Amino acid sequence: MEAIDPSTGARIETYEEHTESDVTEALDRATEAFDDWRARSIRDREQLLAAAGEVLRENKREYAETITREMGKPVTQSLSEVEKCARVCDHYAEHASAYLDSDPHPSPPGSTVRTEYEPLGAVLAVMPWNFPFWQVFRFAAPYLAAGNVGLLKHASNVPGCALAIEDVFREAGCPEGVFQSLLIPSDLVDDVIADDRVRAATLTGSGPAGRSVAATAGDHLKKTVLELGGSDPFVVLDDADVETAAETGAWARNLNGGQSCIAAKRFVVHTDVYDDFLDAFVDEIDSLAVGDPMDEETEVGPQAREDLMVELHEQVAESVDAGATIVTGGEPLDREGIFYPPTVLTDVPEGCPADSEETFGPVATVYEVADEDEAVDKANDTNFGLGASVWTEDRDRGERVAGRIDAGCVYVNQLVKSDPRVPFGGVKDSGYGRELSEVGITEFVNRKTVWVE
Ligand code: NAP
Repeated sequence: MEAIDPSTGARIETYEEHTESDVTEALDRATEAFDDWRARSIRDREQLLAAAGEVLRENKREYAETITREMGKPVTQSLSEVEKCARVCDHYAEHASAYLDSDPHPSPPGSTVRTEYEPLGAVLAVMPWNFPFWQVFRFAAPYLAAGNVGLLKHASNVPGCALAIEDVFREAGCPEGVFQSLLIPSDLVDDVIADDRVRAATLTGSGPAGRSVAATAGDHLKKTVLELGGSDPFVVLDDADVETAAETGAWARNLNGGQSCIAAKRFVVHTDVYDDFLDAFVDEIDSLAVGDPMDEETEVGPQAREDLMVELHEQVAESVDAGATIVTGGEPLDREGIFYPPTVLTDVPEGCPADSEETFGPVATVYEVADEDEAVDKANDTNFGLGASVWTEDRDRGERVAGRIDAGCVYVNQLVKSDPRVPFGGVKDSGYGRELSEVGITEFVNRKTVWVE
C-alpha cells in the first residue's frame, strides 16, 4: 500500500499489506480481547476513552501532519479534525454510562422487566480517506464504550493514518486486540464480514461500496450501518441574509477541498436574491487561498487522488457539454500536485452529472427558483438525503421548510456539520442507521429484555 502526497505526487511511504494469516491472527486477538473488554465496567472503558482524547491532544500536530501529507487537507483543518476526535472521546467518556443505563419498563405485578444493552463483539469499520481520523473516531468512541471491539479497514491511500489511530488506542492503555487496523484491499472485505468472529459492519463511503458491504453482511445476517454520499442542497430564500449565506456557502462547499459528504453542493436560490447571492458567492469563492496544504494560510489544498480529480473534471466537462455555464474555475490547475480550483456552475441542465450525481470536489452548482415551493422541490430532486441547509431571517419559516426536506439533518442559518451530541446519518441513497449521540452508541448492541418473575 502506497501513501502518496497529493500536493506533490511524491511517494511518502510503502506499507506491507496484511496477509490472510495476519487477518486471522487479528480476528483471534479481537475475540480474546472482547471477552475481557465486555466484562469491564463502563466506567473503566470511559476512562480509557478519556485517555485516548488526551493522547490525541498531546500529539495533535504529528497526527495533523500525517493527515495532510496523505490526503492533502490544509493543516489547519487537520488540526481541527484531531481536536474534534478528542472531543468525541470526551463525549462518550462522559455520557456512555447514562446512554447505556438499563431502561426500566412498566412491569406486571410481582415481576420486574428491564432492557439491558450488551455489546455484540467485533465490529468491522470500512472507512474513507476524506476525514481519515474523524470518521474512525466517530465509530470507535461509541462502539468501544459500549463494549464492542473494533477492526478498521481504512481507505488504501491513508495507511499511515490507520496505523497512527491504532497507536492512539494502544498509548491510551487499551488492551491488545480492542482496536486493530487491517491493511487490506477492499476485495478482502467480504471474507472478513463473512467470518463468524465478526458480528457487525459499518461503512462510510460511496454507494457502490455500501451496497457491496450490505449485501455480504445481509447474506451472513449481520447488521450494518451505512454512511454514504450526499448532494446536499443549500437553500437561500428571499428573506435570507445574503452576505452571510454567501460567505458560509463558499466555505461549506470548499472545506476539505470540497471532499465532504455533507458539503453544500447544490445552491438553490430564490429569484429575488439570485443576482446578489451569485455575485457575493463568486467573490467569496475567488478569494479562497488555494495552495500548499502545509501552509497555515491555505484554505483549499489539493484533491486527494489523481483518479478522483479526473472523475470530477469529467463531471464538469459533461455538464458543460450539456449546457452548463462555468462562472469561475472549471479546469485543473497547471501546477505540481493534484489541484482543482473552486468552481461555480450555473444554467445547470436537469440530469447532467453536476446536477444528478455527487460532485466530490470543489464544484458548486447554483440554481434560480421562483418561490419557496420550487426551492423545496429542487432541494428534494436528488437520490441522496444526507443534509441540507436553509437560509431565512424568519426562524418559523426555516423550521417549516426544514420539515419539507428529505434529509437526515437540516440546519437553518448554519452549515451542515456533525456533532457528537446529535444523531448523524442519511436517508435514501445516503444510507441508513445513525452515528453519534445516544442513538449511535446503541446501533451495535443487543437490547436484551430481562423479565424476572
Ligand atoms: P469509497 O471508494 O467507497 O471507499 C470507502 C472505503 O470503502 C475504503 O476503505 C475503500 O477501500 C472501501 N471499499 C471500496 N469499495 C469497496 C467494496 N466493493 N467492498 C468493500 N469495501 C470497499 O469512498 P471514498 O472515495 O473513500 O469516499 C468518498 C465517498 O464517501 C463519497 O461518496 C462520500 O460522500 C462518502 N462519505 C460519506 C460520509 C457520511 O458520513 N455519510 C462521510 C464521508 C464520506 P479502498 O480504499 O481500499 O478502495
